[in-house]
Amino acid sequence: MLFDLSGLDILGLTLTAIFGFTVGKLRRTQSAEGKAAERDMQRAKAIIEEFEGIAAKLQQAVQQHQQQVVQFKDRVKAASKGHRNADWNDFSVEAERILKPTLALADQVARAYDQIKQQSNFLVNLQESRIDALTGVGNRRMFDQSLENHRALLNRYGKQFSLAIIDLDHFKRINDTHGHMRGDQALAAVGKLLRELARETDVVARYGGEEFVILMPETLLDGARVFCERVRREIESKLDLTASIGLASTEDYGLTAELVNAADQALYQAKEAGRNQVFASDSNGCHLVLQAESDEIQVPALDSRDLEVATS
Ligand code: GH3
Ligand code: MG
Ligand code: MG
Repeated sequence: MLFDLSGLDILGLTLTAIFGFTVGKLRRTQSAEGKAAERDMQRAKAIIEEFEGIAAKLQQAVQQHQQQVVQFKDRVKAASKGHRNADWNDFSVEAERILKPTLALADQVARAYDQIKQQSNFLVNLQESRIDALTGVGNRRMFDQSLENHRALLNRYGKQFSLAIIDLDHFKRINDTHGHMRGDQALAAVGKLLRELARETDVVARYGGEEFVILMPETLLDGARVFCERVRREIESKLDLTASIGLASTEDYGLTAELVNAADQALYQAKEAGRNQVFASDSNGCHLVLQAESDEIQVPALDSRDLEVATS
């Protein structure tokens, strides 16, 4: 025999463990989606793909072995024709006995292979159903789930967060002037830049069309202002376009659905005020985030969002 059943059992157990770990990881990280969770998913997917390869090779080897045993059995059978003595009969029975577990093993390997395929497809679908294909950031569904998770964290542990809605300025013009494909490329570039600028624990998602959102856990409005102004400047300087940003924090809007509305209102104000600016909503209304505000307090060694905490 090429493989014994305990080897297959180990394969099965390992697969179950990897699958359990991966799904568990995905569930655990739903509240803190970010680059780290995504990397973990990619790693888990790579491991499962590797196992898929091993299982396919195993299946092939067992099939070959099965064919050889069947051929051997047929030869014994053919050779035993015309021989009536007990030895020939024993050969035939022995060949049959050897073949039986091989057939069972082939069947088990085939089932294990199907299981691996099913599980890896499940993981791929699970991940893809949360990522926006064009920009690589989270999609609306992922964002809605995150928002709910962070609301629950605020409710239970008092963990505040801020929310920014980023809308690209005059994006229709980009499509009209350079074509839809260039428009798509610009959206992908914005997604990439936002992912680079955001923290691992931030949730970056495409809210729809040419609108993005960033949910910033454990970030109060003052820190979020600094960060959003940096995002605005980076978009302007690195990409051939500008964006308007509306910002609000749970500090002012608590657990209510008002938070998204407040950020949306701020965005509207930013557009009204001439675009390419950041506006923040708080309990006193909507205010322009002064462009000097972020320059003033920039210290390269520190993350600007922590600055107020760090210096207080
Ligand atoms: P404003 O500064 O007021 O936001 O102007 P705007 O042109 O960005 O806003 P408007 O809402 O009028 O138009 C949004 C445009 O975004 C229209 C649509 O063609 C474009 N858009 C939305 N989704 C996509 C996409 O997936 N790909 C491309 N290429 N364009 C998109
Ligand atoms: Mg828009
Ligand atoms: Mg726009």
